Amino acid sequence: TPLILWFRRDLRLGDQPMLAAAAASGRALLPVVILDPETEAIGAAPKWRWGLAVGAFARALEELGVRLVLRREPALEVLRALVAETGAGGVWWSRLYDPASVARDTAVKAALKAAGVEARSFAGHLLHEPWEVETGQGSFYRVFTPYWKAMRGMGVAGPEAAPKRLRGVAAWPAGDQLEDWRLGGAMNRGAAVVARYQAVGEGAARERLRAFLAGPVGRYGEMRDFPGVAGTSRLSENLTYGEIGIREVWHEGLRARDEGKAGAESFLRELAWREFSYHLMHHTPQITRANWREEWDSFPWRGDNPDAECWRRGVTGEPFVDAALREMYVTGTMHNRARMIAASYLTKHLLTHWKVGLDWFADCLTDWDPAANAMGWQWVAGSGPDAAPYFRIFNPAGQAGKFDADGRYRLRFIAELSREPGPEALEFFRAVPRSWGLRAGQPYPAPVVDLARGRAAALAAYGARKA
Ligand code: FAD
Repeated sequence: TPLILWFRRDLRLGDQPMLAAAAASGRALLPVVILDPETEAIGAAPKWRWGLAVGAFARALEELGVRLVLRREPALEVLRALVAETGAGGVWWSRLYDPASVARDTAVKAALKAAGVEARSFAGHLLHEPWEVETGQGSFYRVFTPYWKAMRGMGVAGPEAAPKRLRGVAAWPAGDQLEDWRLGGAMNRGAAVVARYQAVGEGAARERLRAFLAGPVGRYGEMRDFPGVAGTSRLSENLTYGEIGIREVWHEGLRARDEGKAGAESFLRELAWREFSYHLMHHTPQITRANWREEWDSFPWRGDNPDAECWRRGVTGEPFVDAALREMYVTGTMHNRARMIAASYLTKHLLTHWKVGLDWFADCLTDWDPAANAMGWQWVAGSGPDAAPYFRIFNPAGQAGKFDADGRYRLRFIAELSREPGPEALEFFRAVPRSWGLRAGQPYPAPVVDLARGRAAALAAYGARKA
């Protein structure tokens, strides 16, 4: 009987355990992507970017002889309807691990099985299933370094080759047009600038990996902290939609290391941070919404407030922070160093709850990832496992001096600081909602908080907690 392949964040042909097994089964295949309420609920930028990934994947499948059917309803309803329409005997998918997806998938699996339909989930989003890495006591890791030691010693399977041809069902059920889903509806970023920063689809993702391993990886260890330099892989955006498989990236990284490329081992270590975030989210799903350590529930963080609004809008008057927020608004991404500074400034200098920042990132990042975002915010805020010590308060001005000494990052994104602002800096004013009241040519704002005073207040609050 035909097999329904329900694609979500695994929009690729190669290094695809589920697809490889489906191709090998010889059954007629019906690939489907569902815009269900869980997917509708994600932020504006990731939803838009997911749509681009779906479009590219549909074209790739077509070249192998099958169609990607698009439906918009709760997942179970769609799958039930497709089973009825095609007589499919099974539904397969690649596992996801965030609480919303787990809740949905568990219910879908139970319902399908109860109806006599085979429901099977596969690995593929991670190097190792989150429960496979265990401490000697059979528990989970709360600290990265021992996790990394344990994980580094484990073998990684795959990657499977992409199928050359797929057999589709005899008659294609009706589906929606991707354009009609209007996934970019809430996005008002400029296509031209965005195009310079996005690499959509499996081919482009693979090319990104190749280019990174051919050059920047050599100096990755030193350069990965400089936001003005193209020193990192930028693969987070592709990994989050599964446009490239993590096992393929890992094996290519290993190969680069074996070829003596200096930064390759650090790169592998960063991939392990992604794994670690999933390990934590699996074992402590509350990490996405609540303080990982409950004793932080009484910490006097402010809820949303006017200073936080300045932060979102990139007008705090603190150039490194504003450059970071504007980079995210214009390009859909933000350099890792800048994420740490921006998050530290919000949770410490502005004493604002990390959830305020987490939500904004979730709305604006095209590489939004539920596990990495939550771990990143709780790590910086201090409420997470393995968190930065509370007295570690990044000084954004000092950080700028160290990691953006020539100011190129700040100048690239802040028009007010530049005599001849470039396209990204100008795009910001075009892209932001009119209600923000920002326009090119405005003077650069005064700081919303004096750095020394903000730091002292944060230290006092954090110190009181520790006492
Ligand atoms: P590279 O330096 O080339 O690293 C390679 C890959 O390793 C990345 O693509 C990513 O998959 C993984 N990786 C690297 N650093 C981390 C990390 N600290 N945590 C988890 N995985 C990592 N990453 C996301 O993918 N999505 C998010 O929503 C996200 N939110 C974050 C929020 C905060 C507050 C912080 C501090 C970090 C966040 N990160 C997030 C992690 C990190 O900033 C990005 O993964 C990284 O900047 C992506 O750029 P790159 O692909 O060039 O990374």
